[in-house]
Amino acid sequence: KKLVVAIDGPAGAGKSTVAQLAAKELGYTYIDTGAMYRAVAWKVLQQGGEVTDEKILAVIPDIDVDLSYENGKTTVRVDGQDVTGEIRTPEVSHIVSQVAALGPVREKMVDLQRKMAERGGVLMDGRDIATNVLPGADVKIYLTASIAERANRRYKELREKGLAVNLADIEHDIAARDKADMEREISPLVQAEDATLLDTTGMTIPEVVARIIGMCR
Ligand code: C5P
Repeated sequence: KKLVVAIDGPAGAGKSTVAQLAAKELGYTYIDTGAMYRAVAWKVLQQGGEVTDEKILAVIPDIDVDLSYENGKTTVRVDGQDVTGEIRTPEVSHIVSQVAALGPVREKMVDLQRKMAERGGVLMDGRDIATNVLPGADVKIYLTASIAERANRRYKELREKGLAVNLADIEHDIAARDKADMEREISPLVQAEDATLLDTTGMTIPEVVARIIGMCR
């Protein structure tokens, strides 16, 4: 049977890395919901100037966010433009939680996410997948790791992309994003009652992937 798998957890827990690999092994579609909120944030930044809730809400009625997954690769498009390479910057990370806290933003993204999961055989990662987007998911995993380890992983990832980053700044940004995501009113980040906790501190990527696959069989 093709399952619906929900993976939630804080920033930098490695969700997208391991979810992508697990999806590949299972032959499932991987859906990166964080990329969708990042795409909205990207468009808001394109407008320039100060980021206000009004400005965020103004882009929502007309924005077209399209997420596709082909040959193990996720592509995000905003109004037809491929922005995949531009949504992981510190600038986007810095405002994405403000964007994702607004009701109209979430309503539009959650509708799209539910449609994408309809056929099954999907592995979706985010913050509110098990609790809100797909409460009926067959497998629910809450993936986390210590803040130090999460900051370190994100640091290496950004460095490899050639971005000038600083570890202390990254740790600070991750902690701030977690706090915003856990304290927002609508669909805050929380481990679902029926989710399995997977703390990946000290685990390798293949070990985490194997654990996830094991839960899906
Ligand atoms: O997963 P990623 O770190 O790319 O997510 C970026 C941000 O998008 C999160 O910090 C959170 O504010 C928001 N998000 C969300 N709900 C989801 C996925 C992401 O609010 N399901």
